[in-house]
Amino acid sequence: MSTADKKRVNIETPVYGSTAMASPAPTDTIPMEPTSPEIAYQMVKDETYPQTQPRLNLATFVTTYMDPYATKLMNEAIDMNYIDETEYPRVAVMTGRCINIVANLWHSPEKAQWKAGALAIGSSEACMLGGVAAWLRWREKRKAQGKPYDKPNFVISSGFQVVWEKFGQLWQIEMRTVPLTLEKNTLDPEAALAMCDENTICIVPIQGVTWTGLNDDVEALDKALDVYNAKTGYDIPIHVDAATGGYILPFLNPDKKWDFRLKWVLSISTSGHKFGLVYPGLGWVVWKDKKYLPGSMAFSVNYLGANITQVGLNFSRPAAQILGQYYQFIRLGFQGYKEVQQNSMDIAKYLHDQLDKMAPFKVYSKDVVNPLFIWYMKPEYAKKAKWTLYDLQYKLQESGWMVPAYTLPDNLENFVVMRIVVRQGMSRDMADMLLGDIANAIAEFEKLEYPTQARIALDKNQKVVGKVFTHTHTPTAKAKK
Ligand SMILES: *Cc1c(COP(=O)(O)O)cnc(C)c1O
Repeated sequence: MSTADKKRVNIETPVYGSTAMASPAPTDTIPMEPTSPEIAYQMVKDETYPQTQPRLNLATFVTTYMDPYATKLMNEAIDMNYIDETEYPRVAVMTGRCINIVANLWHSPEKAQWKAGALAIGSSEACMLGGVAAWLRWREKRKAQGKPYDKPNFVISSGFQVVWEKFGQLWQIEMRTVPLTLEKNTLDPEAALAMCDENTICIVPIQGVTWTGLNDDVEALDKALDVYNAKTGYDIPIHVDAATGGYILPFLNPDKKWDFRLKWVLSISTSGHKFGLVYPGLGWVVWKDKKYLPGSMAFSVNYLGANITQVGLNFSRPAAQILGQYYQFIRLGFQGYKEVQQNSMDIAKYLHDQLDKMAPFKVYSKDVVNPLFIWYMKPEYAKKAKWTLYDLQYKLQESGWMVPAYTLPDNLENFVVMRIVVRQGMSRDMADMLLGDIANAIAEFEKLEYPTQARIALDKNQKVVGKVFTHTHTPTAKAKK
């Protein structure tokens, strides 16, 4: 028995009076003896204590606030494994209902009682499933035509999220990227079509580009693709990566056509744990019709009073998020989602406009189409500035905010930007506090006599070592090579 536990012989010993709290935490091997639950709890809790408060983490897109009933419901389902459908058939039914609801938000034309879709851990899995389905459909068609099917490719803008790079590498499907430029800051349909050929399995426009918050113009792409497919005899489809936009557009811009109303959009993926307003991890993918979901990816269960088609890369996974999503649909309704998303959007626009008014900054795009945006340092200001946005990122961390600074993808990789994602849980008052902290930081930076290390490195056009913010949602330019 370790001395740590000997010291904790009776319940009166204060947790912080125990030897365990004065000893190093296990890092290599499992401890030989048990520790009392109060001490173990406190040690693990304390390990996470110096981190940012999740709601002050303005880097993430993922839900950091749910109401107490949602939280209670999800905690109560913590012991439920989604895959045990026989034991928890209502969870499977709830999943089917959520897929139906999401599919109908996206104007699914499918008449069947259960729409063709799948539950996922997040958009990453959902994108993979959409991509794999497109690949298998293409393969089957090529096989049937007696044509080679060993060189598939897909086309996406260079603003892709890292999952698409994984998709390309793991399934060995060539990723062809259309560069973004300052003038053309979303996917250019003509440039995308110029990259297509008989081996193109799909084109992937993004609604809510991770790097910029902007939306690719799916309607324009669909139109151009229709002409292209007619001319070439191909039938290249569209998979929309709507990780963010999938839950923004239906509520805030219902007339904009980006979804199944468009001819060539055959599948759409989204993150239920982003603006679906559910804690991680939850994603959805929906196909326009069952016929676009290859049979080899699906299996059917018939013991639910109806046929439910099941597709997924995972087997076991928590069921809690499904309860959370279904709760949110019931609790908020269309109107509630609209109000929550509108507030996020209004606060994002407010921050966007206020930051644009600050002397050092310029916003990247005057449009805010999702509740997130990026800005950069005006070149004329940068010329004489003794600081960079990396310094601002670090300064804001002192008051708990995480506002990431990063460089844009290929062609724009010398562009250092900062991004804010406004989510449910960010009030106007918090936005004002953040603006105050930014203004104070600038005032301090302007008093600097000497340039910061980051400034020196940036001026020398060096990589800002150790200062490049790494986060799964903001891959650095280097990480993407
Ligand atoms: C966040 C995001 C992903 C990955 O989604 P997860 O839900 O984090 O797995 C994919 N594509 C885009 C455009 C995203 O914003």
